[in-house]
Amino acid sequence: MTCPECELRLAEGGAQEPAVVEHVLVCAECRALQQDLAENAVALGALREDIIQARPKRNFPWLSIAAAAAIAAIVSIQMWQFKPTPPKPLRLQAERPEEITVAIKAPPPAILTRAREHAKAAEPLKIKMLTDDPDLVIYWLVDSKEGN
Ligand SMILES: [Zn+2]
Repeated sequence: MTCPECELRLAEGGAQEPAVVEHVLVCAECRALQQDLAENAVALGALREDIIQARPKRNFPWLSIAAAAAIAAIVSIQMWQFKPTPPKPLRLQAERPEEITVAIKAPPPAILTRAREHAKAAEPLKIKMLTDDPDLVIYWLVDSKEGN
């Protein structure tokens, strides 16, 4: 039996197997390991008899409330600091055509035609008279008393 095989058998609890007993008699290292394992087993067995006190109930509910309040304060500060910024407005530039042509093929409405004729009839007759002086021009406005 080799030392690794013996160590494995000792770890698995095979200390009483004849091959292991035979190897431990001639190998000091494996004998030391067997001794350590036996001492550990005794120590663990002693722990079984120890009585472990149950953890007492916490008598400080205010501590939980204070912790919850602190967490809420931290979270609200974080949310306040990292407020999302509104997106920047887009700059749009409309192009303006230089000329707009609107073609109207329909005749003007009758009321517009009548209004134009009325305005034309209401205008006084204008007579332009030239004089010897080129800077002096006389306009004679003749208002028709008759008719409209
Ligand atoms: Zn050995």
